[in-house]
Parts: sequence; structure tokens; C-alpha cells
Amino acid sequence: MTGFDSVLVVDWSAASRRAPKRPSKDAIWLGFVRGGVAQEPIYCRTRIEAEARIHALIAEEREAGRRLLATFDFPFGYPRGFARCITGSDDPLLLWEWLAARMEDSESGANNRFDVAEEINAAFDGPGPLWGKTHRDRWPGIPYDKKGIVFAEVSEKRKCDCAARTSSSCFQLCYNPTVGSQILMGLPMLSRLRRMEGVAVWPFEAWQNASVVLAEIWPGIIERAVKARMERGDAGMIRDREQVRLLALALSRLPAEALARMMTGLPPEAAEEAWVLGAEHAETLSALATDQDPLTPPPLRNDCFALPAGVEWTPVETALARLRAGLSPVVGQETLPVDAALGRVLAAAPVARRSNPPAANSAVDGYGFAGGAPEGAQDLPLVSGRAAAGVPFDGAVPPGHAIRILTGAALPEGVDTVVLEEDVRSDGTRVAFRGPVRRGANTRAAGEDVVAGTDLLPAGRRLKPQDIALLAATGVAEVALRARLRVGVLSTGDELRPLGAAAGPGQIYDANRPMLLGILDRWGHAPVDLGHVGDDRAALRDRLETAAGRVDAILTSGGASAGDEDHVSALLGEAGALGTWRIAVKPGRPLALGLWQGVPVFGLPGNPVAAFVCTLVFARPALSLLAGEGWRAPEGFNLPAGFAKSKKPGRREYLRARMRDGRAEVFKSEGSGRISGLSWAEGLVELEDGAREIAEGDPVRFLPFGSFGL
Ligand code: AMP
Ligand code: MG
Repeated sequence: MTGFDSVLVVDWSAASRRAPKRPSKDAIWLGFVRGGVAQEPIYCRTRIEAEARIHALIAEEREAGRRLLATFDFPFGYPRGFARCITGSDDPLLLWEWLAARMEDSESGANNRFDVAEEINAAFDGPGPLWGKTHRDRWPGIPYDKKGIVFAEVSEKRKCDCAARTSSSCFQLCYNPTVGSQILMGLPMLSRLRRMEGVAVWPFEAWQNASVVLAEIWPGIIERAVKARMERGDAGMIRDREQVRLLALALSRLPAEALARMMTGLPPEAAEEAWVLGAEHAETLSALATDQDPLTPPPLRNDCFALPAGVEWTPVETALARLRAGLSPVVGQETLPVDAALGRVLAAAPVARRSNPPAANSAVDGYGFAGGAPEGAQDLPLVSGRAAAGVPFDGAVPPGHAIRILTGAALPEGVDTVVLEEDVRSDGTRVAFRGPVRRGANTRAAGEDVVAGTDLLPAGRRLKPQDIALLAATGVAEVALRARLRVGVLSTGDELRPLGAAAGPGQIYDANRPMLLGILDRWGHAPVDLGHVGDDRAALRDRLETAAGRVDAILTSGGASAGDEDHVSALLGEAGALGTWRIAVKPGRPLALGLWQGVPVFGLPGNPVAAFVCTLVFARPALSLLAGEGWRAPEGFNLPAGFAKSKKPGRREYLRARMRDGRAEVFKSEGSGRISGLSWAEGLVELEDGAREIAEGDPVRFLPFGSFGL
């Protein structure tokens, strides 16, 4: 379990005064997003007020069964070794308790943090480590400035501060940033919140199944986005308010798997020092921290499904050409780490950050020297040491000398040729081998595969595992991707029963919906199950109504012709943007295409075989275009027919087929209710529109299911 339903971002404050009544900066701000929607940020004048609000929010989310990620902008831990000096234990949570037992706060903001800071400093030799105060003449145990403090027992920064490039130190109590004071005033609050039912602290506790997870963040991570927002906004805009709102939005938009990656695989220091959530993902989070869905393409044109004029039966090629011309990508963009990008579509061509190989290296285990070798027996003295992958030889190999070298090792200075281990004799001080050896033999040149700065893959590419390898090898850590195309699947028909339910005579199980959901998943889209509705126009309208905001396209099955109970076509007709395409195709025919509140709807036939074929032939290229992949047509090849058939003219036919012994066999029946033939088949035989007498052995076009991405 990794996803969250709501996200809270708390911008904490160490102020000793109550913040003004009118919302202003330097107070406490709570940014909150629930179900993807940003709420009005909450302004708190005191820490006590803020704690009460946070407490109430946690209780509310828990009550409603929503999982909450509650984040705070101050360190959850100190640099390694600090806790032990105070409490005698490395457990950071014991330090929380220690502080909670001492810190006093008040409605006016007055507090005893400098007294507690003095007590802390007393546990350390020399001045500090806590420093900075409001009065030179008070709290003698606290240095006025950082001068003279030696960070020997504990280092000044935590590992995550370096990783996230935060500018702050846990030890600075005064002057901005007052992170040191914020921790003292913040950890006691956290120690109270964590005692609430269902709350766990990341990464100190088992948080994976907790319903509320407390985590540290650093708002500076989305600085680029906040700056852009402030530049566009009016003078009255409050920076802190925008910051918490945008950060909460960004965190809520992170795909669950990307968030899970950010929360796991932390270095060991994090167990004591804590970690900044998203520390090394400033780009990813900044890209998501925006009010506009970044780069959302324009909506589809209302006439994108207009029918060709005056044609009664539209040939398949014409139908495809019209779909291709009328549709365009409808999904926005997001930036994600490469290891969360498998199966996703590139929005832009990634550029190699590094050449492959980055440096000239050896292709084999052997002995390296310079200049190749002429015909005849060779004998070279060996330099001591060796070059191995990841452990380069630093030094130069003199002319006329050789060096032991292993596969993948960078070529040392003075080496441009490698002779294979199997081809030499060596006593450890010399190597003997037989020439000629071509200069450059058994080496790989820097950049011989990919040169830094070149485009690696085209925009529109759906990333395969091997693409991830290419991106990783060339130093690309994040990629711009298309948002996943969300495709709803809805079945219609009074006769349909869901999987597992009882079915009376005259009823049948809904086979299309699980099939279509599975196909969409295979294609890398995000399938959305819209369930089943009976032959009832009002119910269908309601269902489409609720679906319109949640999906980018809809596949319905059944009710697509023009009969009494064919409500899909009737409803799309009412909406005004319908084309009921009578396509000259078998199996298939009526395909209702329309826009429902701007969302393209593919009204597929109810017969499972027809629904399947129409999905492959029409919906696949159309959906891939909507998803930003471009039009994807299947690749086929000719095979000798393993059957005979007399094909009538007038429409294109697709037969369930498979390849056996180099011939195309077809399923014993062409009935479009025969679902078993879909499992039997491994592809389709495509027969052109005209009439044709097919004898065994005649060439027919075979389209394997693999070429439809299945
Ligand atoms: P229709 O297009 O609604 O007239 O349906 C054509 C045929 O397909 C009828 O025999 C339906 O019972 C059948 N059918 C419709 N929807 C489904 C479905 N989801 N699963 C299986 N069969 C279906
Ligand atoms: Mg029906």
C-alpha cells in the first residue's frame, strides 16, 4: 500500500509572537489536497492553533477512511550521533520525547526554546553546536554566532541536507533560516501527533500500512515552480501560501509507484537523521507543482467523428484515415524518474547526458599496450599494477610496455590496443604473443555507441525495458512523459450479468468488459471500469456523465446499432457529435463514434468477436494517437492459405487465424458469438474489400496479435 488520498504540507514557524490577524507570510500555513483537489490553504496564527488544526485533519481523514500523507518542513532528526549525546540512545524518537518533556509554548508565542537549547549544548564539549540567539547578554551557553564552533562530535549537516541541497542547518536557532528553532518547537508537536491511532513516522517506523504517515519535506525543492507562480501572480500573493499549496499538489500528483520509490531505498543514515521526501527529485516535483495541467493539449474538435458525406458503407481504409485526421493527443505531461517510466510514452526526446561508453575501454580480458604490433613474435615487459572496470590504473604505460587489463577497464594513458588473454603467455613480468595485432584491437572507443548530447529515443515512444537500460547507461535520470491515457470501459444490455453472479435463462455473462479492460492494460493505458448498465437511456446518460471527468476516452460495447434498444448510438446522437459509422467490415459493422462532453466514445458492437476485432482495428490506432504515441498500424505478412474460401465483395473481412507449418489456418466458424475462437486464434487473416476466390496455398495476409500489441 503506497498511495495516499490526501496530502498535507505544513510550513512551520518558530516565531515568538502571534502572527497578525490578516494572513501574511512568516506564519504557519497548511496546504491541503484531498482527492487531487487543492483546498484553500489554512492560515494559523500560533503553533498551538496549528497543532489543533492538524490534529483535527488527521482525525477527519482517518474517520473517512482516507489515507493521509502529512508533511512538515523541518528536520525530523539531527546529524548522526547527536541524539546519543542527549539521551544516550541513537533512537531519534526518544529525542522527540526528551524535547516534548521540556518545551513550553504559549498562545502568545512566548516559549523557552533558548533555555532548552542551553541544556542541550551543555551535553557537548566546546561552544555549540546550537548557536544564534536574540539577546547577546542572555543564555551564556549559546554562542551568538557560528564562529568558533567545531562540528567534531556531530557534523553540521545531515546526509539528506546534502542530497537535497538545503541551505539550512539543524543547529541555527536565530536569523533566517531558523531551522534549529523550528525543530525544537516542532518535534514536541510531532511526538504528540504520532501517539494518535494509525499514525506512523517515515522513515523511523513501519509506515507502509499506516493510515497516516508523517514525513519531512523541504519546500525549497519546488523553488522553480514557486518562483514561476510568484512572477505570474499579483502583488497581494503570499509566497508561503502558494508554496504549501503547490507542494501539496505536486505530492498528490506523484504516481504511487514514484512516491514509493522516493520513500524506500534510503541510505542507513536516514534511520537516525531522517530524510527529506523527494530529496533528489526536485525536477519531478517542480514539474508537478503547477495550477495548470502542464502542457495539456487542446480539446478535440467537435466534428472529429463527422461522417464522410454521401457514403452508405464506409470502407475500412476511409474510416481509419478519417479517425487519423480527426484525432490528436489529449493527455498532458509529467516528468518522472526513469525507473518509474517503463511502459509510459515519451513526451519529448530524451538527450544523452553521457556518452556510451563514457571513456575508451577494453572489450576483453587481456594485456594493453600502444600502437598495435607487427607480424611475428612479440615480447613486452609488464608494468606492475592492473586496470580493472571501476578501478582504473592511474599512471601511464611507457612505450614498449604492456599492462594487465580486464573487460570494461578504462584504457590507461599509453594504451590503445589490447591483446586477448587467450593469445598470450605471461610469467607475470612479461607477455609474449604473436603479431600482427591491429592498432585499436579489442578496445571500444568513447562514444562509439552513443555520443553525449544526441537524442536517444523519439517522442511518442512507449518505453520498453531495453529503453530504460539505454537511458540509464547514458545518465538520464528523469524523462518527460505523457500522462497515462485513462480509458473507461462500459457494457450495455439488459441481458448481461457480472462475473460470479447468478445468471438465469436468457441472461449471459458480461465477457466484453473484462476483455477490453485487459486489452487496455496490455496497451499501457489506464483502464477504468465503468461497470454495466441495462438498456436504459437515463441510466446510460448518468453513467457517462459521471465518467466524463474521470477518463480521456470511453469504450462501450453493445447497443451501438440503430435498433430499439440501441441507446449508445441514440444518446451520442442526442449529444450532437455522433457519427454512427456503418463500416464495411466483418465482423463489426455499426461502430458508434461520438464525443460525450469532449470525451471520445467508441461504441463497439456487442458481439464479443466483433467487439474484439473492432477494438484492434479501429480503437487501437485511435487510442494510441490520443495517448501521444502516434498512429500505430499493425504489421503483417503474407502466408499461404491453409483453407479455401469464396469471399463476397463489399467489405473487408477479418478471420480468426493462426500460423501452423508456415500456413494460415482459420477458425472453423466465422460466427461472431464464438468467443472460443478468440482464444484459439493467434492473429487475424485480413481479406481485402473485393470479391476473391481463395484456394489452399494462395497468399493471404496474416496479422499476428503481437503486431496489435497483444
Ligand atoms: P447488441 O450490440 O447490444 O445488440 O448485442 C449484440 C450481441 O452481443 C447480443 O447477443 C448480446 O447479448 C451480445 N453482447 C452484448 N454485450 C455483451 C457483453 N458485454 N458480453 C457478451 N456478450 C455481449
Ligand atoms: Mg444490447
